Amino acid sequence: MKKLQAIKCWIFDLDNTLYSGKTRVFEQVDKKMSKYISEKLNVNIVEAKEIQKNYFYEYNTTLNGMINNHKIDADEFLEFVHDVDIDFLKKDSLLNEELMKLDGKKIIFTNSSKKHAMNVIRKIGIDQHFDDIFDIVDSEFVPKPDIVSYKKLVKKHKIDPKLCVFIEDIARNLKPAYEMGMKTIWIENDEPWARKFSDSDFINYKTNNLPEFLKQINLLKVANEF
Ligand SMILES: [Mg+2]
Repeated sequence: MKKLQAIKCWIFDLDNTLYSGKTRVFEQVDKKMSKYISEKLNVNIVEAKEIQKNYFYEYNTTLNGMINNHKIDADEFLEFVHDVDIDFLKKDSLLNEELMKLDGKKIIFTNSSKKHAMNVIRKIGIDQHFDDIFDIVDSEFVPKPDIVSYKKLVKKHKIDPKLCVFIEDIARNLKPAYEMGMKTIWIENDEPWARKFSDSDFINYKTNNLPEFLKQINLLKVANEF
């Protein structure tokens, strides 16, 4: 963890990273995507789910599959699928405290929309900490784990990847970050699609509790100052 002392830029994924996957927020988004496909392509929900799964694997996001094959309107899709109930999300005071203590730039890097990200981080009470939300529109609809989007982010913020850490629940999304010289932290979870490749060398650290992990980094920083 000592290596993280030099970090100048903290890049966070949003869904199932800044809040726990146990909250089932993303499950709602997932269901809305099935519903969107079902209505748009006039197929039943079972067929829609199958299409959704195939697009996710082939194009990295359902949205990209829909754009490429059905020329849908991206804004309409993003608006529809992120219209979910997040009222039950609670303030995360430990995460808030530890983000405050972290030195350096903080950026959210997500395959979802800025609006969804803002809704979530306001609800958790951590919105004041972030310098930017780099969303799927900023990526010009080239989603993670395509290295093109990571390079766009780095270029926009004029940051040295070697001074960055990237934190994500989908293990394979950490690979391009590592290849560019970033440190990587995987958020441990039980989703088969997110766990895939989680034993790879491109993962530097693992944690099942992000606020606690950041707390340890901050404590180490204080200890080193003496
Ligand atoms: Mg995620």
